[in-house]
Amino acid sequence: APPEINGDFYDIGALLTPRQREIQLRVRAFMEREVEPIINDYWQRDEFPKELIGKFRELDLIKEIFDDEGNRTPDAAVLEGITGMEMARVDVSTTTFFGVHAGLAMCSILVGGSEAQRREWLPRMRRFEVIGAFGLTEPEVGSAISQGMTTTCRREGDTWVLNGEKYWIGNATFSDITIVWARDEADNQVKGFIVRRDNPGFSVRKIANKIALRAVENGHITLQNCRVPESDRLQNATSFRTTADVLRMTRAGVAWQGVGCAMGAYEKSLAYAQKRLQFGRPIANFQLVQNLLVQMLGNVTAMQTMCFRLAQLQDAGVMTDEQASLAKVFTAKRCRETVALARELHGGKGILLDHHVARYFADTEAIYSYEGTNEINTLVVGRAITGTGAFV
Ligand code: FAD
Repeated sequence: APPEINGDFYDIGALLTPRQREIQLRVRAFMEREVEPIINDYWQRDEFPKELIGKFRELDLIKEIFDDEGNRTPDAAVLEGITGMEMARVDVSTTTFFGVHAGLAMCSILVGGSEAQRREWLPRMRRFEVIGAFGLTEPEVGSAISQGMTTTCRREGDTWVLNGEKYWIGNATFSDITIVWARDEADNQVKGFIVRRDNPGFSVRKIANKIALRAVENGHITLQNCRVPESDRLQNATSFRTTADVLRMTRAGVAWQGVGCAMGAYEKSLAYAQKRLQFGRPIANFQLVQNLLVQMLGNVTAMQTMCFRLAQLQDAGVMTDEQASLAKVFTAKRCRETVALARELHGGKGILLDHHVARYFADTEAIYSYEGTNEINTLVVGRAITGTGAFV
């Protein structure tokens, strides 16, 4: 964007290393060139642009986050953050595709997998030769999944038998593998499985009629006596603690989605305000319109600085659950406010997909509720600061 339309008001870009800055700008150019021109059409058709998978392979971004051995690079959180922000600045659905694959699915194997499993899957996932999904939520159990998971697994010799349903599972309609979390009938502990698309007993239906993130394909998975070999059980995933470790790694990434989405909405609004004429002058000249823009920019700037510091804490290995939850709560709320102001600034045209802010407006509703709803993340922070858990 030209300097006058720049959603980085406090120059967070100047805090990045030359390598991080180069990657940020590469992702920005990719999103503007490859995604922006096609995304409204896919969004309207309720379909993920699979043509992007090959292009993501060429972009070769995951190698900046996972090294050759499959370990996270020293500045993985900052890189994940700024690249997630750049993606969401153009489109949140694309960011979610990437986050589910490179975040939730790959981190599950990183944290829960054995050395052999890491070697088997992570290099191919890094190159987008294998696409991953993450199956935790169920049709009847969302926020309470740590306590109320109903999907079960039962060991029979060298095979596990899985039964249950998973709901909302991003990428699952076309992914090669889905990480499925299930409760062991024997010891009642949650275990993780790498379920391949052609596993007998595994089937997926696409969830229709969404009003947000329509270009993400969310699946409703049925596991009916789905047989998975012991070798595809995540060997180091021993309880829900492992699942929680994965979610801790990715929650900050969702906070960055809110930052990027708000940043995109602000930049689109400033550009629109400068060229839309009413009463013989650009609407940017009106005081009330400037007020809308300044509120948006304040939100964006506060979110960026908060998340940048959070990423530094994460890379230093000291970020807590509560710190990640606070960022998720704050950014989702501020993003919701910002996209509503952007919609307002565009007048009636703000409800047309053509100007993009309508898509940001709708997509923010998903950011608000996934990876821990606003209420649940609030309660996580509330518990930490008061010493009292208020979940039940
Ligand atoms: P519920 O848990 O039913 O909550 C309903 C309302 O009750 C919310 O407002 C909630 O905050 C409130 N509530 C619940 N409990 C409490 C409490 N104790 N105190 C106060 N308020 C409470 N899941 C996956 O496993 N994989 C995915 O890839 C995935 N992708 C998703 C993509 C999208 C677009 C969406 C919308 C969801 C996705 N999810 C995924 C699921 C997501 O994580 C859940 O939607 C989320 O955890 C909330 O669960 P729920 O929707 O069942 O809401």
